[in-house]
Amino acid sequence: MPGEVAPQPTILIVEDEPEIRRFLRISLVNHGYTLLETPKGEEGLTLLAEKKPALVILDLGLPDLDGVTFTRRAREWSSVPIIVLSARTHEQDKIDALEAGADDYVTKPFGILELLARIKVAFRHSDKVASSAAEEPVFTTGDIKVDLAKRTVYVKGEEVHCTPIEYQILTMLVKNADRVVTQQVLLREIWGPGHAKQGHYLRVYVGTLRQKLEEQSARPKYLITEPGVGYRLRVIEETNGG
Ligand code: CA
Repeated sequence: MPGEVAPQPTILIVEDEPEIRRFLRISLVNHGYTLLETPKGEEGLTLLAEKKPALVILDLGLPDLDGVTFTRRAREWSSVPIIVLSARTHEQDKIDALEAGADDYVTKPFGILELLARIKVAFRHSDKVASSAAEEPVFTTGDIKVDLAKRTVYVKGEEVHCTPIEYQILTMLVKNADRVVTQQVLLREIWGPGHAKQGHYLRVYVGTLRQKLEEQSARPKYLITEPGVGYRLRVIEETNGG
């Protein structure tokens, strides 16, 4: 709605490091969000139940309850978007949190712009899930267009042939546009539960997809590798003219 300032939703921060809480408080309040804060997981779950925030920012290493357990317990009754904060070296923790039902993660140290972008994507995705009406059959990012109804992929208007597996990978990433999809989820969905550890299959197909979709497959703009975790399809808005 142009010209209108929409009231920003409430975000719950569950983080035991006061410095990070302060950084989040200053930045997010500046961007109009209302905040709830707690350093403890148990209290976080109580706040989530009682105050019903629109989104949770969750540290994985909490003193009383780890973030993965928090996520698992929250998911027993809540579909609130959860963005996890995690240390760079803890890939397995991120994977466990995503498997438990977290929506995305940001690696510490992070910039506020990155976090704001993740928050927006999480809200957009949860709105889409909630409304479920009128799903767009055509997805566009930059030069790439995927017509899900016609099962056809275009780059700069030219049709590109994808193998069935390439197409399955691409559509899973399209459905989760701008969000990370773990290797395990891709492998399980495409090859079945027995293949969850065989990441080399994926690397091969992501490689051939990049050759078809990216201008420079060695420096991908769209099909981004999240090291040790999975892949993310970046949404790049179309530029006007130029
Ligand atoms: Ca911590």
